[in-house]
Amino acid sequence: MFVLLFGPPGSGKGTQAAALAERLGVPHVATGDIFRKHLREGTELGKLARSYMDRGQLVPDLVTCDLVGSRLGEADAAGGVLFDGFPRSVPQLYWLIGHLGATGRSLASVVNLQVADEVILGRITGRRTCTNCGATYHAVSAPPNADGTCARCGSAVVQRKDDTEAVVQDRLVAYANQTFPCLEQLVDRTPIHNIDGVGGIEQVKGRIFAALGL
Ligand code: ADP
Ligand code: ADP
Ligand code: ZN
Repeated sequence: MFVLLFGPPGSGKGTQAAALAERLGVPHVATGDIFRKHLREGTELGKLARSYMDRGQLVPDLVTCDLVGSRLGEADAAGGVLFDGFPRSVPQLYWLIGHLGATGRSLASVVNLQVADEVILGRITGRRTCTNCGATYHAVSAPPNADGTCARCGSAVVQRKDDTEAVVQDRLVAYANQTFPCLEQLVDRTPIHNIDGVGGIEQVKGRIFAALGL
């Protein structure tokens, strides 16, 4: 069961992924989270990724696909994965289709979260992220603990460096030019569930589960 959670930055992919992955019984694989882990650990890959992430640009396809290839080689990913933020370009999409196809596997479905740009801006500039476990909050609609710590693990919650208004504009351009075209490629291959991503978190979750028949 290989499922893609698709949608522009700030559409709610990370927020919805945990419950969906749990229900599907597959691990949640978010390339952005993996890059940020490397960033925190100061690895060479982290340093390379940072130079792109800080500018709102995509990390090169070869690097990203290599990373996903290693993750897919781990035992828990053999039977399926919920991808969040991958693929983000047409070359990444065809790499994934080829990689799965080599062992007779394929993409089961796509969940496409739809949120207008005006809403996205408010969500991303308000987003706050745990420095330790990656849990996501929102300054207004889903705040962390009153002392600014993570409700899940107690670590500091901060604003991501790429969650500023200026970088968001560049990320939206990257989405429109490089990521959105993946959907056109998928139309004739894989069922796409278009989900209205505006509404309460539980409401959106209900729409996703209903669309997938869960
Ligand atoms: P993505 O992973 O697609 O970039 P996130 O899940 O991190 O998006 O959500 C972006 C921001 O929007 C976060 O601050 C999150 O708390 C908030 N958010 C997520 N879903 C909703 C929703 N349905 N309504 C309002 N805010 C939301
Ligand atoms: P968001 O949750 O807002 O959609 P992510 O955490 O998924 O953002 O990604 C943050 C940044 O990490 C991206 O702007 C990009 O620089 C990099 N990144 C994440 N996934 C990919 C990918 N599949 N290909 C290239 N770059 C990626
Ligand atoms: Zn935390």
